Amino acid sequence: MAKKFDAIIIGTGQSGPSLAQRMTREGLNIAIIERKLFGGTCVNVGCIPTKTLVASARAAYVARRGADFGVTIDGSVSVDMKQVKARKDGVVRQSNEGVTKWLKGMHNLTVFEGHGALESANSVRVNGDLLEAGRIVLNVGARALVPRMPGIGEIDFLTNSSIMEVDFLPEHLVIIGGSYIGLEFAQMYRRFGSRVTVVQRGPRLIEREDEDVSAAVKDVLEKEGVDVRLDAECTGFKKRGEKVAVTVDCKEGDEEVIGSHVLLAVGRRPNTDDLGLDKAGVQTDERGYVKVDDQLQTNVPGIWAIGDVNGKGAFTHTSYNDYEILAANLFDNDPRRVSDRIVTYGLFIDPPLGRAGMTEQQARESGREVLVGKMPMSRVGRARERSETQGFMKILIDKETDKVLGACVLGIGGDEIIHSVLDIMYAGAPYTVIRRAVHIHPTVTELIPTMLGQLEPLT
Ligand SMILES: Cc1cc2nc3c(=O)[nH]c(=O)nc-3n(C[C@H](O)[C@H](O)[C@H](O)COP(=O)(O)OP(=O)(O)OC[C@H]3O[C@@H](n4cnc5c(N)ncnc54)[C@H](O)[C@@H]3O)c2cc1C
Repeated sequence: MAKKFDAIIIGTGQSGPSLAQRMTREGLNIAIIERKLFGGTCVNVGCIPTKTLVASARAAYVARRGADFGVTIDGSVSVDMKQVKARKDGVVRQSNEGVTKWLKGMHNLTVFEGHGALESANSVRVNGDLLEAGRIVLNVGARALVPRMPGIGEIDFLTNSSIMEVDFLPEHLVIIGGSYIGLEFAQMYRRFGSRVTVVQRGPRLIEREDEDVSAAVKDVLEKEGVDVRLDAECTGFKKRGEKVAVTVDCKEGDEEVIGSHVLLAVGRRPNTDDLGLDKAGVQTDERGYVKVDDQLQTNVPGIWAIGDVNGKGAFTHTSYNDYEILAANLFDNDPRRVSDRIVTYGLFIDPPLGRAGMTEQQARESGREVLVGKMPMSRVGRARERSETQGFMKILIDKETDKVLGACVLGIGGDEIIHSVLDIMYAGAPYTVIRRAVHIHPTVTELIPTMLGQLEPLT
């Protein structure tokens, strides 16, 4: 006999639990299904643990730089990887237990622990139970992509999940993939004390960014001793005793990089291959992401997909915003849409990159007349005071409307500072509002009005 609910949520990522809370507060009887770790990727093997590890890596970096600030440390600085992992585990545990307790204590919510798969457009099987509901929400997220590279089956490799169990210092970590996830691990492990090589297929790191951003990020990493192998067609892996030989079809340099450990960071794939989508007739794109409309409904009425699985965002904040959009449409008679969202994200190397809206390349391609302002961090007093002058900030303005098209801040506090620009974009206000604003001295943000006073046509 099927167990009946008003709605079933599969997955407890960054939007499912909040949606469950809203639905139960609306008086609905809800089932939520989790097959592994409550809180999903961000809480357990994504944002929270990586940012916790980044903080340990920065502590080591600052300790080593003590002399630059007149601070003397007697003896060498070393990193206790067991302690680093224990600290990370503690922070993760707190979040994971918080979500678990929250869900298990939620009134009108039944938690099922197991793999959920659609049986039809209104039913889901989990363990031995068949659940039925008129509304089904997929919040199943994504996992590390493991491409079929030659030799991959012969070696042990790490992913963003398995590296969370590492409590020792890899002698030489070879990271396949020079994008957001790979670069955070690259700098982190270099700071812990590993030798690190990043193997990037294309001609530059983080290829979605503008060339000046890619070049500056490469510079940051190389100055700390990370080897970056660009234009490296990663052709395969071979075991070399205890080590791994990564063959990289490079235009210059050695053809092989011999590492002690390999981390794959070449992209993500949605958790849709075993979700029974075909039984419900839910359509996916060629990469397996669930197709949704602007209000997150799939092609099957009554089934929605929120979070990474819909391919419309790959971040915790986009997943959470998906929850807000769906809840507003279901309960508030407020037709919020995904297309109202401005692209924004961080790259949490040190110094971090914060981005909002268009890149320079996208602004150029938009066909608009664009004004650009750029300011090196070396001109920012606060950065000089802290001896952290790497990076720059850049802003792009629509010449006709005076609206901000996009901005990036690569530099100390860049992940926070970008919000001052993001909020003006959401307000739909012209850039002159920030141009005239009085900011606190001495901060990095105080240079944004100055930068806006020095706009030039984008050529
Ligand atoms: C290393 C790393 C660092 C990151 N750092 C950041 C960051 O700093 N900032 C940021 O915004 N984003 C970051 N992200 C991305 C962020 O983690 C994801 O965008 C976010 O977790 C997406 O959440 P989600 O709601 O789509 O689902 P997820 O968090 O992926 O959770 C999905 C859940 O569904 C469960 N599930 C899947 N299939 C089933 C099934 N069939 N039955 C039952 N349960 C199922 C899974 O076990 C999982 O618990 C990072 C990602 C990684 C990998």
